[in-house]
Amino acid sequence: MIDKCKLASDRISYNGELTSASVSNILLNFDDLDVTRIIVTDSFCNVVYDSEVDGARKWQYALFPEIVTALEGNDVFYWNYHDSAMRSSAATPIFAYGKLLGCVYMMDYDTAQGTLISTLQNSILAITLVLQLILVVFSFVFSSTYSRRLRKIMSSIGVVREGDYSHKLQISGNDELNALSNEFNDLIQRLQTSENIRSQFVSDASHELNTPLASIKLLSDSILQNNMDPETINEFVGDIGKEADRLNRMSEKLLSLTRLDNLTPSDKPVTNIVPIIERTVRILSENARKNQIEVDMNLKADCWIAIPEDDMAQIIFNLVENGIKYNKKHGRLSIDLDIMDNSAVIKIADTGIGIPEESIHHIFERFYRVDKARSRLTGGSGLGLSIVKGLVEQNNGTIQANSVTGQGTIFTLRFPLYPQREETE
Ligand code: ADP
Repeated sequence: MIDKCKLASDRISYNGELTSASVSNILLNFDDLDVTRIIVTDSFCNVVYDSEVDGARKWQYALFPEIVTALEGNDVFYWNYHDSAMRSSAATPIFAYGKLLGCVYMMDYDTAQGTLISTLQNSILAITLVLQLILVVFSFVFSSTYSRRLRKIMSSIGVVREGDYSHKLQISGNDELNALSNEFNDLIQRLQTSENIRSQFVSDASHELNTPLASIKLLSDSILQNNMDPETINEFVGDIGKEADRLNRMSEKLLSLTRLDNLTPSDKPVTNIVPIIERTVRILSENARKNQIEVDMNLKADCWIAIPEDDMAQIIFNLVENGIKYNKKHGRLSIDLDIMDNSAVIKIADTGIGIPEESIHHIFERFYRVDKARSRLTGGSGLGLSIVKGLVEQNNGTIQANSVTGQGTIFTLRFPLYPQREETE
């Protein structure tokens, strides 16, 4: 548009005359101007030519900003879009021989371009709306999926808080929530392990404490129920004292949980197991008498092995007690101690109900009981043999069970002899 203005301005300037007739003559000879309105003014804004109105009605002054700017010697162009139409205007000064004659102003009102712009505007609006809609739908889907997964985590926390450590949290995906769920499952796994250890400790502790308590009860019952000579009473009272001491040591042992793990073989006290076996059998003799079980003992004079006294007492007590508990009326129980191949071999054999073949491999498992009804009647918990096996292995021994259903069971224990003692014997 500026170019068109300049072209007209050049022609007028070339003509050198700025009259209504000469200007309209020049401008009418342009076929390619193609603008809505042309105004030519002199240097004082007086309208010399206006393409829209005839000479009689033409304005005297045209004080458009474009004209004022052009009369200051500048080329000027404005455009704006309004009411679905594009309005553009331009003005350039007319100079003749270096002197400002006036200016040419052109204005074009283009509805075709306006329509194009408004179509473009509508399309952009529609695209923006669609994009916004997609954004809203996407955020809704994303936030609801995210909050569903968060709810899942919250409900898992609730389940675990109720104490169900076997619960597993399953979160799909490969993001932070998935990493969080893996961490959560790891944590639960650890909690479950420590809970298992805790409950194992509680049941083992109560079972271990139960043994000396039962001994004290049996010994005191024996003293009360039998007409004993003072010497035997003295012996039994002495045993009660020893059991009380054992109870005391056990509670100390339970307080320092790691004691057994920390003991190296050389730390372990060397014990003559013969008097321990004799004392334990004596404690249980009242039990045997009540169940009409005959108890035989065939022990070597002395037998030294590296084992804490309490562990040995606990092992023998459990095995002999079982031999009485799972025996038949008028049955027999024999306890033999022999030395073979540098080992102390203890055999505890009963003529009781025996253990079925399919159960023999399970009896050392925690809480395993062959006949649950009978075990419950005799107060069994299924823990005794698992504790026995644990203690035997901690003291470098082995335990083996052989049984024939209906005929009886033999438990064979083997412990390495304590070398120095064996040499000095
Ligand atoms: P409990 O406290 O039930 O006696 P144990 O761990 O000492 O637990 O024994 C496990 C199971 O092994 C018992 O329930 C019993 O069925 C079986 N058992 C153990 N010793 C004998 C035995 N001498 N004769 C027959 N069955 C036995």
